[in-house]
Amino acid sequence: MNAKPRGRQFFNNPGPTNIPDRILRAMDRPVIDFMSEEFVAIHHACHNGVKRVLKTDQNLFMYSSTGHGAWEAALANLFSPGETVLMVETGYFSESWTEMANHLEIKVETIPADQRKGADIARIAERLAADKEHKIKAVLTVHNETATGMVLPLSEVRRAIDEAKHPALLLSDTISSLASMEYKMDAWGIDLTVGGSQKGLMLPTGMSLTGVSNKALEVSRKSKTPRHYWSWEMMTGRAPQKFVGTAPVHMFFGLQESLKMLEEEGLDAVFARHARLAEATRAAVRVWGSDGKGPQLFCQNEDRLSNSVTAVVMPEGVSSDPMRKAAIDRFNLSLGGGLGKMMGKMFRIGHMGDLNEPMLLGCLATTELAMKASGVPFVPGGVDAAIKSLSA
Ligand code: PLP
Repeated sequence: MNAKPRGRQFFNNPGPTNIPDRILRAMDRPVIDFMSEEFVAIHHACHNGVKRVLKTDQNLFMYSSTGHGAWEAALANLFSPGETVLMVETGYFSESWTEMANHLEIKVETIPADQRKGADIARIAERLAADKEHKIKAVLTVHNETATGMVLPLSEVRRAIDEAKHPALLLSDTISSLASMEYKMDAWGIDLTVGGSQKGLMLPTGMSLTGVSNKALEVSRKSKTPRHYWSWEMMTGRAPQKFVGTAPVHMFFGLQESLKMLEEEGLDAVFARHARLAEATRAAVRVWGSDGKGPQLFCQNEDRLSNSVTAVVMPEGVSSDPMRKAAIDRFNLSLGGGLGKMMGKMFRIGHMGDLNEPMLLGCLATTELAMKASGVPFVPGGVDAAIKSLSA
C-alpha cells in the first residue's frame, strides 16, 4: 500500500491544472538575458497574445506572483484607504478578495447572494442607483467562482452599472475562467481583469496579470495607497519588459507556447471543448444524486453553471474527506476539496486547461471508484451518462 502508485497522476483540481508536455518542453531551455532583444521580442509577442485572449486593446500588466498579487495590484493601484467598493458575493474567492481590500483599508460593501443560486443583478442596480453621491468607486466581481462552480454574467453587471448611470469601475477576477470560457473584456465594458497563469493558460503557478482599461489607468493616477512592486507607473517606466525586478523568462517561454496552443486550437474551439467536458461531468453528477440521497451539483442555477469547474455537494452528514483521500492515496486521482465553510462538505472536479475526453472519463470513473471504496452513497451509472453526453 505504501508503494508509489504507477502511471500518471490524474489531476482534476480546479487549478493548478495539467501542464502540457509541449509547455514543459518549451520551458526546458537555458536562461536568456531578460534585457536582450530576444526576450523583448518574446515578451512583446506574449503581451499581444494575452490581450487577444482577454479580448482587449487596452493595457496589460504581468507580475511574478500568484493571483493574489494581481488582486492586490488592482486594489493598490485603483483605490485609496477609506474609499468604498461594492463586492458581489459569489463564495470563497469574493470573500478572500474582500478580506484583502479590508487589509488595505478599503471599505467593502457586499451585495449578498445565495451562493447556490448566484447574485441577483437587480440588487447591484438598486444599490448603485441609491448611491447619488457616487461614493462607490467600483463593482468587484469574480467571473467564475472556483469554490462554487458558478459564473456571473458580467455583461448584465455592466448593464446594471450603465442603467444606474453610475461611474463605478467594473473589476472582474477571471482566474478560473480565462482561456476556458468566453471572456470579452472590452465588449463587456470591464475596467480591470485579474488573471493567473495556472489554470486555463496551462502554466505553472507564479505569473499573474491585470488587463486595465484606459479609464482605470486614469483613475490609478489618483490612488493614494502606497505601492512599489505593484505600481503600474513604475512598471510602465520599466518598458519594454514592464517588470519591476528580473523578468521570469521561463514563464514567458511557457506562455508563448501556451498562447500558440490556444491559437492553434482556436479560442472558440477551446471554449466548446470545455463546455462539452463540463456538460459530461454534470451528467455524471446528476445520475450520482438522482435518488436525492447521493452527491448533488452545488450550483442550482442552470444559467450560471461553470464550464471549468464542477462543485459537488456531499449528502447530509457524509464528509468528502475520506473519498478524496481514497482518490489520491489509492487511485492517484487528485480532486479539489471544499473551501472555507464548505471544507469537508463538497468535492470539486476541475475540467479546465489541458484536458480531453479520456482524461475526464478516467476522472469520473475513478471518482465513482473512490466513492464506492469510501462508502459514499451514490447512484451508479454516472460514467455511462457522461459517455452518452460526450457521444451526442
Ligand atoms: N480567484 C479565483 C477565482 C481563484 O480560483 C483563485 C485560486 O484558485 C484565486 C483568486 C487566487 O489565486 P492564487 O491562488 O493564484 O493566488
